[in-house]
Amino acid sequence: MTKPQLKSLTHKELQSLLKQLNINPFNANKVFKHIYHKQESIDTIDLPNKEKLLDKIETKSLKIIKKIKSKDHTTKFLFQLADKNKIESVLIPQRNKYCACISTQVGCALRCKFCISGRNGLKRNLETYEIIEQIITLNKEKPVYSIVFMGSGEPFHNYKNIIKAIHILNNHFGFNFGQKHITVSTAGIPKKIIDFYKDTTANLALSLNATNNKLRNQLMPINNTYGITSILNACRKAKTTPRRRIMIEYILFKDLNDSLEDANKLTKLLQGFHCAVNLIPFNEHSHSKLKAPNRKQVELFKETLRRKKFKVFIRESHGQDINAACGMLSN
Ligand code: SF4
Repeated sequence: MTKPQLKSLTHKELQSLLKQLNINPFNANKVFKHIYHKQESIDTIDLPNKEKLLDKIETKSLKIIKKIKSKDHTTKFLFQLADKNKIESVLIPQRNKYCACISTQVGCALRCKFCISGRNGLKRNLETYEIIEQIITLNKEKPVYSIVFMGSGEPFHNYKNIIKAIHILNNHFGFNFGQKHITVSTAGIPKKIIDFYKDTTANLALSLNATNNKLRNQLMPINNTYGITSILNACRKAKTTPRRRIMIEYILFKDLNDSLEDANKLTKLLQGFHCAVNLIPFNEHSHSKLKAPNRKQVELFKETLRRKKFKVFIRESHGQDINAACGMLSN
């Protein structure tokens, strides 16, 4: 029987494992504090019958094989997993704080046309400990203030493991990382959107990118399965509030979805939503013929939304020179 990975266990699962081993389950607090808060190896913990626990668990970790720094101080990490697969994560400076952009799958099945991560398809889901280890490693470099699940992979195709990771990160004996500082980005899987609002208090970002199914089908083939109406209906059913709104991500492509007519259509689609809109000027790369929009057009698009009272931001690109910007992570 395969042994569980220590950092894939929730606090509750660790308690029941300790109980099975006749170790006081209260020691789960001590273990969480030791491995997440102090970030020490489990081998160095002072715990009665520690050998029994060590015998029942595995403690694999990720190996950093490359670390590249961009001109704007964004740092990209290339990790090798225990099975030799590779993933990337990015540490992004935001004023005086740091945001960790992490991967949830090796590759991605969705093959969005603008994204490098999905071009070779999906290899496998990341396990919970592989998600957590990315954050621990980045946090050793700089204290992480916010986490975005926006690296390679569709997080909702690895739903169980990302939810576990969020709860482990949030546990107050360990990292005590506030769920309000965690954002999960999805291409839009209706049932999971509703579940996510029940299972966590973290933030959701929806990668929308088009106002009609014809264009969205071309940009994001998953739209052939879940069209815009079914995704937005799920967002309506989810328990959004003004304080827990959905972030709508809209990548702007030159002459494709960046006209003022598109901006007006977007305001109509999002009418009555608790949402904010993040406009992301496309980062051109050699794997796509799509073009970056003009800066002036981006500003006009923003202004159209703002006039209709939408909260709207332009997401500036980080780490473009090291292929660490949005949609540029590979493996
Ligand atoms: S944009 Fe996200 S969902 Fe689409 S292929 Fe890339 S990683 Fe997958």
